[in-house]
Parts: sequence; structure tokens; C-alpha cells
Amino acid sequence: MKGEPLILELKSIALGYGKMTVIGDLSLSMNCGELVVVIGANGAGKTTLLLGIAGLLPKQRGVVNFSGQNVTRTATHRLARQGLALVPEGRQVFGAMTVLDNLRLGGFRVGRALLRQRVAEIFDQFPILAERQNGLAGLLSGGEQQMLAMARAMMATPRLLLLDEPSMGLAPKMVEQIFAMIARLRASGISILLVEQNARMALELADRGLVLETGRIIKTGTGRELAGDSSIAEFYLGKNG
Ligand code: ATP
Repeated sequence: MKGEPLILELKSIALGYGKMTVIGDLSLSMNCGELVVVIGANGAGKTTLLLGIAGLLPKQRGVVNFSGQNVTRTATHRLARQGLALVPEGRQVFGAMTVLDNLRLGGFRVGRALLRQRVAEIFDQFPILAERQNGLAGLLSGGEQQMLAMARAMMATPRLLLLDEPSMGLAPKMVEQIFAMIARLRASGISILLVEQNARMALELADRGLVLETGRIIKTGTGRELAGDSSIAEFYLGKNG
């Protein structure tokens, strides 16, 4: 949106593990409210990128600005407080806790009244979670757990949501529901950086996409442009896409 600072700006960042560099020199800008999808083969560095943005990996080089502020060295918990949330790969919920308690945990920093209001909003938007609110999270289906993991991140009302392969390993019907949830989150104005193997569905939804290969952006375009690009179709829009 005009006049608003970029929600995220990566300037020539390098990321990796110890001395190993996975992302060499990556720059990316995201506008407020944008949905940007990252596609790429296994090992391209997609998860590494999200971990780096979320402050879970130190930057080897470069600058990260979040909402106009330099957060290159800001710790993850502070970033979370500033409105940046990561939903990691693999449906990480607390299985031995109820659905409701998982949500409460996501909003542990907000006051009681606000917490109740947010839970009510989430239940309104995601009736499955309302139905199962007193059940153990570990007993939910894989898709419902993914939904809960995303809803829990929403409890802190983030401005930027980083989603790492939310549809991974889910049945097609559940994949559709997860994408519907992403569409709803986006419609609510939140900015989303989405890593997805279901490239076709993700590109259909996305404002912009980028293709990552061995830690470098090799292609960018609107979701539609990339979905229609034959070289991308060949490699990334196969049977899953
Ligand atoms: P996938 O789709 O398989 O999750 P990805 O694009 O998310 O792939 P990353 O998980 O970011 O890729 O991995 C990028 C590279 O970093 C790979 O070569 C991987 O082996 C390496 N890597 C990932 N995690 C670590 C780690 N903890 N320590 C060392 N190397 C790692």
C-alpha cells in the first residue's frame, strides 16, 4: 500500500549453518498485505530463508528490515512481539494439551479480555477448532493440527506470517482447506511469506512468486506469470503442483 513502509526488506542477506553458507546473496522486498510464495526443489534453502527472517539463524551478511526497522540482529521473541510469526514445517502443536490451551498459549502475552475475544474470532473463522476445543490437540487429524498451528500463530495478531510448507503430507481435501485458510488470512490484510511444494495452488493465490535454487532467486514474477511459465511448469508444477 502506498505510503506504508515495506513490511519486509532483505538486503543482500547470507544465511547458513556454522561456516556453511546456504543462501549467498538474497534480496527481497514485500509490501504490506502481500502474499509472496517461495517455490524451489528440496534443499534449495526455503526453510533456511524463513528461519533467518524469524531470527532463528544469525545473518552471515546483509540487512533485514521489518516494517521499516532494522531487525538484522533482533532476537526471535522480540520479533514475535513486533508482529512477525513463523509457523514451522511439520504441524507443531502441543499434543497433550487441548485445542483451546494451544490457542491460549499463542496469546499468552495479551490480557484476558483480549484473549477471549481472539479465541472467539478464531472459533468463528475456523469452526472445526471450535468443535474440538476441549479435545487434545494430538488427537486432531494432520490437517486440523496444521490449522491449529496457524491459528495459534494468529493469536498474537502478527503483521507478517511466515508459513513453511503448511500443506505438506495432507490429503487433497485438507490441502484445499489449508489454502482456504491462507486466503482468508490474506483477505484480513496480513502479509504472508509462504513456502510451498504445492506450487500451482500457491501461485494461483499469490500476488508474487519467486523461485529459489541453491540459495539464489532465479526467477520472480506475479503468481500468474510463474504459473504460466513453461520452464517452471516442467520442474515445479508436476503431479503435486
Ligand atoms: P526442503 O523442501 O527439503 O525442506 P528447503 O528448500 O527448505 O528444502 P533447507 O531445509 O533450507 O531447504 O536446506 C538447505 C540446505 O541446508 C540443504 O543443503 C540442507 O542439507 C542444509 N541444512 C538444513 N538444515 C541444516 C542444519 N541444521 N545444519 C546444516 N545444514 C543444514
